[in-house]
Amino acid sequence: MRVRFWGVRGSIAVPGPTTNRYGGNTSCVEIAADGIDPIIIDAGTGIRHLGKELAGSAFGSGRGTAHLLISHTHWDHIQGLPFFAPLYTRGNRLHVYARRRDTHLRAVFASQTESPYFPVPLDEMRADVTFHELGDSQKFTIGPAEVRCTRLNHPWIALAYRIQMGERSVVYASDTAPFRDILFEHEFIGQPPAPGAPLEPAKAAALAAMRRSLVELCRGADLLIYDTQFTAEEYRQKPHWGHSTPDDAIAIAREAEVGTLALYHHAPDRTDDEQDAILTHCRAALSGVPLGLVAAREGLELTLDASGARPTKGSG
Ligand SMILES: [Zn+2]
Ligand SMILES: [Zn+2]
Repeated sequence: MRVRFWGVRGSIAVPGPTTNRYGGNTSCVEIAADGIDPIIIDAGTGIRHLGKELAGSAFGSGRGTAHLLISHTHWDHIQGLPFFAPLYTRGNRLHVYARRRDTHLRAVFASQTESPYFPVPLDEMRADVTFHELGDSQKFTIGPAEVRCTRLNHPWIALAYRIQMGERSVVYASDTAPFRDILFEHEFIGQPPAPGAPLEPAKAAALAAMRRSLVELCRGADLLIYDTQFTAEEYRQKPHWGHSTPDDAIAIAREAEVGTLALYHHAPDRTDDEQDAILTHCRAALSGVPLGLVAAREGLELTLDASGARPTKGSG
């Protein structure tokens, strides 16, 4: 199984000299294996480059099928979809999976390309697009891949996915806050809670259950890709934004005994040098701990096999 990062940024695309090495495109990860249709997680701006590469294969002649798992429909996870080249070739098929909402998923995605926001309506795109609505703990298959999901702690709710093929597995968990200070549902939270304010017991129990389910989803995975947008200080200031820190991700990874953790969904203001420093600091803290650690970067491909997650492209 190969996992390739096409966009690793949170919130908004930030190309420029201070983000060139990790990359400025927003969330998009491709999961590939010989003989299976590509599985894509999230359609941030990174999906544009992936679409161009796929157009060089069966998708260029309208014979391609891809599966797109959406964590949630915030801009940084869907903004690249109208620029995904395979959508414009008749005969291609795209299956889109996302959490069920009050509005049908097709309407949610169609509204993204309504006039005057985009020139081509979803219904005019030539590929055949099918939407699959998911519950919070659904299991389904995509060819030989078994897919499971669980709910994350994020405003308007996001899903984490585990993709298992034979012995190999990857979990994608973005976006999520830690499971201790705020329970996010379907509302905008404008202010952080007062420091030290106790959480209602029912909310604390719901968060504990959500965390347990996530740890079980991650159990023994070869690779865990996790929202680590914030430093500890940034989290203290913005706990109501719905993102985690590397320490939160490391705690989940260690509890679930995953092989390698990929820091992901980097803050838009994070420079390459700052991201290097975060990675170095975390690696030092993990000295002697059996957990591999990488910071996701655009173009990085990790191959998962019995010996772990090895970089096979873009690690320079
Ligand atoms: Zn995001
Ligand atoms: Zn989000």
